[in-house]
Amino acid sequence: MATEVFTDSLPYQDPALTIPERVADLLGRMWLEEKIGQMLQLDAQDCLDDHVLRKHVGSILHTSPELILRANELTAKTRLGIPLLVADDCIHGHSFWEGATIYPTQLGMASSWDADLLERVARATAVEVAATGVHWTFSPVLCISRDLRWGRVNETFGEDPFLIGELASAMVRGYQGAGLADPTAILATAKHFAGYSETQGGRDSSESDISRRKLRSWFLPPFERVAREGCRSFMLGYQSMDGVPITINDWLLSDVLRREWGYTGTLITDWDNVGRMVWEQKVQPDYAHAAAAAVRAGNDMIMTTPKFFEGALDAVEKGLLDESAFDSAVARILTLKFELGLFENPRLPRADLTRIVGNSAHAELNLEVARRSIVLLENNGVLPLSAARAMRVAVVGPLADDAQTQLGDWAGGSGQVGWLDGQPREMITTVLDGIQQIAPDYWVVTQARGANILTVAPDPAGATFPDGQPRPPHVVPGEPDQALITEAVAAANQADVVIAVVGDRIELVGEGRSTATLELIGGQNALLDALIATGKPVIVVLLASKPLVLPASVQRAAAVVWAANPGMQGGRALAEILVGEVEPSGRLPISFARHVGQQPTYYNQIRGQHGDRYADLTQSSAWAFGEGRSYTTVQYEDLVLEETTLTASGTIVAHITVRNTGARSALETVQVYVRDVVTSVSWTDKELKAFRQVDLAPGESARVRLELSVAECSIVDAAGRRVLEPGQFELLVGPSSRENALLGAGFTVKG
Ligand code: BGC
Repeated sequence: MATEVFTDSLPYQDPALTIPERVADLLGRMWLEEKIGQMLQLDAQDCLDDHVLRKHVGSILHTSPELILRANELTAKTRLGIPLLVADDCIHGHSFWEGATIYPTQLGMASSWDADLLERVARATAVEVAATGVHWTFSPVLCISRDLRWGRVNETFGEDPFLIGELASAMVRGYQGAGLADPTAILATAKHFAGYSETQGGRDSSESDISRRKLRSWFLPPFERVAREGCRSFMLGYQSMDGVPITINDWLLSDVLRREWGYTGTLITDWDNVGRMVWEQKVQPDYAHAAAAAVRAGNDMIMTTPKFFEGALDAVEKGLLDESAFDSAVARILTLKFELGLFENPRLPRADLTRIVGNSAHAELNLEVARRSIVLLENNGVLPLSAARAMRVAVVGPLADDAQTQLGDWAGGSGQVGWLDGQPREMITTVLDGIQQIAPDYWVVTQARGANILTVAPDPAGATFPDGQPRPPHVVPGEPDQALITEAVAAANQADVVIAVVGDRIELVGEGRSTATLELIGGQNALLDALIATGKPVIVVLLASKPLVLPASVQRAAAVVWAANPGMQGGRALAEILVGEVEPSGRLPISFARHVGQQPTYYNQIRGQHGDRYADLTQSSAWAFGEGRSYTTVQYEDLVLEETTLTASGTIVAHITVRNTGARSALETVQVYVRDVVTSVSWTDKELKAFRQVDLAPGESARVRLELSVAECSIVDAAGRRVLEPGQFELLVGPSSRENALLGAGFTVKG
């Protein structure tokens, strides 16, 4: 191919023309190789020159300012000078940017049940991300967590489709800001479309055994919602359903997404989905067939399958694809670039980016969301600790001062990228730091490690998978260490109160790192047993990426708190809650199991199981969806519906009194569930349909108005249609999904 660089202004370079005119002009000038390359997104960390100059890539991911500037110099040398879309995983902050603000994980943030707060976090993230020359984030995750063994539970908003839809839409709004012309707007990605989390045995990326009706009932609604709200891209999951990889799943991509929902956004594959059809799933004989199938199925951007380039050329040569087959995908990508204004301004890293990235306003917001992400699960009255009196506090446990673990997956130290092994220590407040910062002079704070969690050993199968991706090492649980336990017990015996910080580590979290068990690993159970046996009040802080199973001794703990990886300010937020400077307000977005064998434990299961027990254990969760305590008690009274007979187009209006019966204030999350009494097909017994958060001063009561369209009380029938079936319903209102926590009021929907 000859290289000729256009210098005179061409129609596509003229901002006065409309975007469709510019796209049409540019598309008309592109050679086949350039079109194929435009559909490719490759890793900026390897062979950047080759990616841009020979493969004509349209996009890169995993960058640094230097690489972005280099890529920009390279595109300037290309025939048409098409700017690159720069993408990265900015999942809970600008994950892999040294010095960026790292917020709690998505699961942690979901415990706030606060869409506005999450919108602000996404906005602040976009401001940091955009300043570094990145235009596109692969966030939020809309997968529904069900099997807690899955390694990616931490990336989700938990188990409820309604809550997921609320929070995901908020994050999309935050990322995309005032519209793509806004220089701080970045493209959001809803992922992983769809059903990826419905694993077998929690094993990552296993075939999802999931019916279309089940998809339409629970897994698709959050995606449909963000599609309609303008989320600009969707990422396609790794897995197959009914034997068909999502990448080429015509029913999902064409019938549902494009035709039914009218989605016009951009579809991106997950990492090497196209290659995996050849080397892993073995449903395509070679890259020509795989590329042809992916293009025909309507994929726009192919992530990190370098051989897509040769494969697609080959497919055209073999007659598997027509030359025009790439046009609609390329047009969609170019449209995004024109909308972002990249031809006029490629949005390179800003000179003043260090002023923006990791700034103090974002640290404040981070502290705010961290406070809201922490869930108080049990409290025998030991909390809040009184800062007014002298106290000896033993801070014990392997995670009390582990700064990088506190950040979780998709953060500097998570090992997912080679160029960063952690975020600056001084930006992170660990639990120990937080307690020390907050402790009055007359407190004595001591520390003991108490246990080791794990070591790792190389996978004997080799350091990498066939595609060159690193194979996670094997986890070797640590043995209980008697010397460490003795030291911790001595510290506990000297103390008035023990704060034991236990949980999981990054080696047990993430892609390809599902866990077969949910118990605390290594010496942690033995440590808790020994601490609790001292008879001292032990506050168990579970710093864990996902719900874990605690040992039986914890039933005698004085308090239990869950802080899903709570981000850089997590230790500070936790300390503030422990001493009652901040009221605990988090509510579980996901249920906790009592035993790994109870999987799955989500609250909205289908009616009709025989009994509610295993022979050897209850089926009920340890802590259920929606649960979480305050330092006060809140009573729910007097649920009244304005009307009890409604039509399908009507609105349910209910009122309930919430009364703070204690001496401290509360932020109460009033949850509204709907029960459809008889359904034409089996259905869940109740589903969250709305919630409201109410501030209550001590002794205060509020009459809360709740509103819900009757249309929301639909189910999916046997033919897969979402329908509202007239008949009897119940509105259930209360502080959690637990049946005995809810007040009910019946209503009828007329046909
Ligand atoms: C993950 C995606 C991620 C992508 C790019 C994949 O392995 O499944 O969630 O966006 O990598 O890093």
